[in-house]
Amino acid sequence: MTKDCQMVWDGCLRTIRKNVSPQSYKTWFEPIRPVRLDSNSLIIQVPNKFFYEWLEEHYVQLLKLSIRQELGERARLEYQILVNGQNQAHAITATDARLQAAPSAAKDDEPAPGVFDAGMIKNPFVIPGIRKIKVDPQLNANYTFDNFIEGDCNRLARNAGMAIAKRPGTTAFNPLVVFGDVGLGKTHLAQAIGNEVLRNFEHKAVLYVSAEKFTNQIIQSIKNNAVNDFVNFYQMIDVLIIDDIQFLSGKQKTQEIFFHIFNQLHQSGKQIILTADKSPHELANVEERLKSRLGSGLTIEVHAPDGETRHAILQKKAESLGYPVSPEVIGLLATHIASNVRELEGALNRLVAYSRLTGEPLTPDLARSQLADLFRVFNRTITLEDIQKVVADVFNVRVSDMHSPRRSREVARPRQVAMYLAKQLTNKSYPDIGRAFGGRDHTTVIHACEQVNILIPRDPTLAERLQAKGVSAGVVGLDRDGAV
Ligand code: ADP
Ligand code: MG
Repeated sequence: MTKDCQMVWDGCLRTIRKNVSPQSYKTWFEPIRPVRLDSNSLIIQVPNKFFYEWLEEHYVQLLKLSIRQELGERARLEYQILVNGQNQAHAITATDARLQAAPSAAKDDEPAPGVFDAGMIKNPFVIPGIRKIKVDPQLNANYTFDNFIEGDCNRLARNAGMAIAKRPGTTAFNPLVVFGDVGLGKTHLAQAIGNEVLRNFEHKAVLYVSAEKFTNQIIQSIKNNAVNDFVNFYQMIDVLIIDDIQFLSGKQKTQEIFFHIFNQLHQSGKQIILTADKSPHELANVEERLKSRLGSGLTIEVHAPDGETRHAILQKKAESLGYPVSPEVIGLLATHIASNVRELEGALNRLVAYSRLTGEPLTPDLARSQLADLFRVFNRTITLEDIQKVVADVFNVRVSDMHSPRRSREVARPRQVAMYLAKQLTNKSYPDIGRAFGGRDHTTVIHACEQVNILIPRDPTLAERLQAKGVSAGVVGLDRDGAV
């Protein structure tokens, strides 16, 4: 590569960077390598044909503009596509900087030798030597692309998901990792990909599993001496979707088996789709080698929706509820509940249910009065630390008692109340909560929740005492369950 071609490409990148989001820039332009400059043609290398197609579909005008700015009106852009990870590049000439692929470059479309292809054998759901099994994909049919509203917050993830559903396992997006805060549509999107794959290829073995369930299956298979069966089962999946992989954190054995399955599937061209609450590199207590494999495909963050997207989501949701909701009410919700789609939907469901039950028309006033408490809560995310602090204060114990191994009643009770509130008011799982309370087991948290459920009717002042300390959120939580 000469210095000139790098300089020309750097110039193009400066223009491109100003015109696309940082995430698109990172995903679509950083991986491109300038190769050569032949008078007015810049030759660049892209990782695969899919990449090239994506550029053509989404960024051709921008590329045209940027190359012309660097090399003048007669500028051309030529492509080389990396085939099978090696530098056997096919040069594709693009006239007038318009990108065109030569058919011979489509090699990476073909499955790699030895790929399990459902169409190649009579019954794709038979595992030789084990047992006949048909995979139930465990998908929720309601999670589709159709009802997954696109906004700036999720555009890239949604588009990558749709591309994968057309050609699972053969795009550069393997694994696809979608990460972001709770309630932003990761599960919906991951399942939409699975549903769409099955619509396109009814014989593909698609499987959705939460990381928690996956872990429990591994624990069971170890107990039953059946780890091989477990691994064999997963190896016959064509599209594996594992939700919330942060759950694997600290679970060494599970990570080891997952690593093995991951590599097998990946090598044989099967599609892997994962979700997490943070990017793979930030996952705590996950082995480095696994993290680096997780980050080897496409990692995309989903963000909280902007106002326009929140409107669109609420409108779609209202339609599906089959209940008239006025634009004013939708506007009110979209303005006040900003952080998270799950809460947005929850608020709408609650209002519609109330109006249906009481027969009161769903006016903005009704919405305001019904949702006053929700607005307070949803404007701010409650953390486990918040809960621990307030509960310690109410019961007059130290925050450190929330974590300590002490079991005496005066600290055990407040700890149980805090665990209960944590379950009610956050989206943390039982094991997550256990960890935040001095590394306790999830069964301890479940027990605590049961205990507090019994306790609440006997101690009506409890909610009041919490409320007096500003845990209005706590009272909403209790209200919601009708527990006080
Ligand atoms: P996460 O897995 O990120 O916690 P979910 O996928 O469970 O979030 O989404 C929470 C709720 O919000 C679900 O009911 C889902 O259908 C809905 N939702 C999230 N994003 C969208 C969207 N863009 N369009 C429509 N519904 C959405
Ligand atoms: Mg989820």
